[in-house]
Amino acid sequence: MAEVTYDIAIIGGGIVGLATANALLAARPGLRMILLEAENRFAAHQTGHNSGVIHSGLYYKPGSLKAQYCVEGREAMYRFCEQHGIAHERCGKIVVATDATEFPRLEELHRRGEANGLKGIRWLTADQIREYEPHASGLRGLHVPETGIVDYKAVASRLAQLAQERGCTLKVTSRVEGFRSVGSEMVLQTFGGDIRCKALVNCGGLQSDRVARLCGVDPGVRIVPFRGEYYELISSRQYLVKNLIYPVPDPSFPFLGVHFTRMIGGGIEAGPNAVLAFKREGYRKTDIRIKDLADTLSYTGFWKMARRNWQTGMGEMWRSFSKHAFVKALQRLLPELRTEDVTTGGSGVRAQAMDPSGKLLDDFHVVRAPKMIHVLNAPSPAATSSLRIGAAIAEMATGHFDGR
Ligand SMILES: Cc1cc2nc3c(=O)[nH]c(=O)nc-3n(C[C@H](O)[C@H](O)[C@H](O)COP(=O)(O)OP(=O)(O)OC[C@H]3O[C@@H](n4cnc5c(N)ncnc54)[C@H](O)[C@@H]3O)c2cc1C
Repeated sequence: MAEVTYDIAIIGGGIVGLATANALLAARPGLRMILLEAENRFAAHQTGHNSGVIHSGLYYKPGSLKAQYCVEGREAMYRFCEQHGIAHERCGKIVVATDATEFPRLEELHRRGEANGLKGIRWLTADQIREYEPHASGLRGLHVPETGIVDYKAVASRLAQLAQERGCTLKVTSRVEGFRSVGSEMVLQTFGGDIRCKALVNCGGLQSDRVARLCGVDPGVRIVPFRGEYYELISSRQYLVKNLIYPVPDPSFPFLGVHFTRMIGGGIEAGPNAVLAFKREGYRKTDIRIKDLADTLSYTGFWKMARRNWQTGMGEMWRSFSKHAFVKALQRLLPELRTEDVTTGGSGVRAQAMDPSGKLLDDFHVVRAPKMIHVLNAPSPAATSSLRIGAAIAEMATGHFDGR
């Protein structure tokens, strides 16, 4: 049996867990804290497999947590990168409408951007689009100067270092696999032994619903994994993209549509699409885990969602298997792009919470239980917002864990 009883255990060493550890320790120095990560390194899943965009806050419903935390988190992220010498760039992006039917949605994005307090958003005509991106094509567009790029793995790595310096015990290869209550304490079972704690924060990303259930809490939602696949522009064609070029997203999905992103470390990525993953951490098309697939297929919410959106789903699947179809979607933004200009890139899997009615939860979602906080929906822009999410959890924990 473990000897130390930690005040708080954090489950998950992605950017949200690491930011939360830092925020809690900044608010209450001296807390005995442990962070448990299942893999042998931090940022092994969503945090290490994303587009590396510091989102501005353009897309999100005014008044939502996403809108507030993205705008505040974005500025906190820029400050953090400056303070810690992490490479980043506030390079701006454009969103372009390639069809007049998209104009009302573009206007809605503009309205949301203004309502969310974004500065400097500019309407673009077809000619003005080319001032920013000479090879892009569109009828109308928006320039959003507050968007930026960064490597979130580098941010996570610095957060881990800082948490350790502040006294947090960090343990990798420590998947939480069991839970029991012993008096007023909780015992987390890991491969390396039992961990005793008085309170816990679940930041388990793709496994967050299962971790909640393991801890005896009904999450009320199920995580459905959506893989996002990328292509990369070959170096001789990278001049086609200067910064970031996005389409107008479909408002019925929380995904942004395939776009072009300049990476902070060099290179241009195109993607990600959004296909159902048959394994929660399934980065390849062929990855299947029966338990994960059964969890998705046995969920009534999934079938309700599938009935409503099967056409979009089939389109995404088709683009996943056909490079030609993927490139065709990209050519709407960049007509000069040819199939031979892109090579297969990486992929990431989004942890998207779905409710029993089949609704994909749009906003960040946290469930509280006695002495526990479970982060159950932290998809994009949670990397951008991570420092603000961490601060919010620390604030919540102050009252909640003290029994107030
Ligand atoms: C393809 C893609 C593109 C994206 N692009 C962007 C973007 O450009 N900008 C942006 O802001 N956001 C983006 N996002 C979203 C962003 O990456 C995530 O919202 C963010 O990384 C979530 O962080 P997290 O810490 O909650 O999850 P994760 O990074 O997934 O971390 C969860 C951690 O918990 C661990 N864990 C799970 N179960 C257990 C257990 N039982 N015990 C111990 N540890 C456990 C996992 O191993 C993992 O390391 C993107 C996401 C994807 C997938």
